Amino acid sequence: MQRVLVLDKNKKPLMPCHPARARQLLTQGKAAVFREYPFTIILKERDGGDVQLVTVKVDPGSKTTGIALVADFKRGKRLIWAGELTHRGQQIRDKLLSRRQIRNSRRSRKTRYRAPRFLNRRRSGGKLAPSLQSRVENTLTWVGRLSRWSAVHLLSMELVRFDTQLMENAEISGVEYQQGELAGYEVREYLLEKWGRKCAYCHATDTQLEIEHITPKSRGGSNRVSNLTLACHACNQRKGSQTAAEFGHPNIQKQAKRPLKDAAAVNATRWALWRRMDALGLPLEVGTGGRTKFNRAKQHYPKAHWIDAACVGESGEQVTISPNHAPLQMKATGHQSRQMCRVDKYGFPRTSAKQGRVHFGFQTGDMVKAVVTKGTKCGIYIGRVSVRASGFFNITTHTGTTQGINYRYCTPIHKSDGYLYEKGEALSSATTRVAVSPRQNS
Ligand SMILES: [Zn+2]
Repeated sequence: MQRVLVLDKNKKPLMPCHPARARQLLTQGKAAVFREYPFTIILKERDGGDVQLVTVKVDPGSKTTGIALVADFKRGKRLIWAGELTHRGQQIRDKLLSRRQIRNSRRSRKTRYRAPRFLNRRRSGGKLAPSLQSRVENTLTWVGRLSRWSAVHLLSMELVRFDTQLMENAEISGVEYQQGELAGYEVREYLLEKWGRKCAYCHATDTQLEIEHITPKSRGGSNRVSNLTLACHACNQRKGSQTAAEFGHPNIQKQAKRPLKDAAAVNATRWALWRRMDALGLPLEVGTGGRTKFNRAKQHYPKAHWIDAACVGESGEQVTISPNHAPLQMKATGHQSRQMCRVDKYGFPRTSAKQGRVHFGFQTGDMVKAVVTKGTKCGIYIGRVSVRASGFFNITTHTGTTQGINYRYCTPIHKSDGYLYEKGEALSSATTRVAVSPRQNS
């Protein structure tokens, strides 16, 4: 179960507590709710206290980033809080694209003279695209928040897909890959990247891929990475003890000989995140994607972003996750729109100019609870509100949007902070995926 984050009266973090304990403290009046998402309480009397060591662990992804708080108890490491952060990279890209198109069309229209803009933008090196930058900022926002509300002593993140150093050595010295060993997982990640996550022979993608020897072992082929590729089960079987050339794919051997360039393993966004996390001043541990998978498979956890986060790095080797643990879903929504009014398809104003952002004390993006007692919309709604100057709001819950709910029915539970919150799926109900074991042909 998600623990409740606890602050002392000076807003210094204490050890996160069990929800039952938090409820007790709240009913006794010893604590007050500090934040709803993530649920944090503030103790009214307490000043300081014992804390165990807590690690913030991050598994950065392009669409979703997993975040986990792992406490180092005497009995071992335990997941105490987890979240899945959904980024808005695509949304940012689309918005910038539409802005560009509108500006382009405006400039090319037959209108007063406007000097063409051409090669007049300056961009300093090492800058990320806005959609990628937002992923870094989102993740940092949450690492920052969590380290403010819990006693964090270590940061941990997955930096690269696989250990290039290990791979380089493997290409040169032919380190044997062994089934189930950490190196095997690194090799697998490496091969997935190198062969584009598809069968090298039939290019099938939606299937379980097996590690395949280009020159079979029975014909004197080695376990070197340069002799390995990925194949679907059917191709692997059909190929049998033939070499790739005999199987009708002469170029596979040549392709395999070329080691994967370093660049393929290096992801600009992850490095940017790493630099920013490093600057936070806490010890920072890094892990590889191969290691994360290895840790997760060893502990028989299903695949989910928040579970991957808990399994990142060396510190993720042994982490207890209770079966009813459900992560918090956090979806980046951005804050406001700069558009002053809606336009029709010709670009002319369709609505009147935007009113103020706050109406009746509510702002779009606030999480509210509405208890509607009258009319066809009778019921309880907990969700994100879209405010209207008329006082009739829209509330989006996980089941959908209900329009026209009077502000009088609404109570704020969480002020807008750029994220939409929902409770995630528990570990026990997450879809279990069987760990793929690297299989060999003879
Ligand atoms: Zn195939």
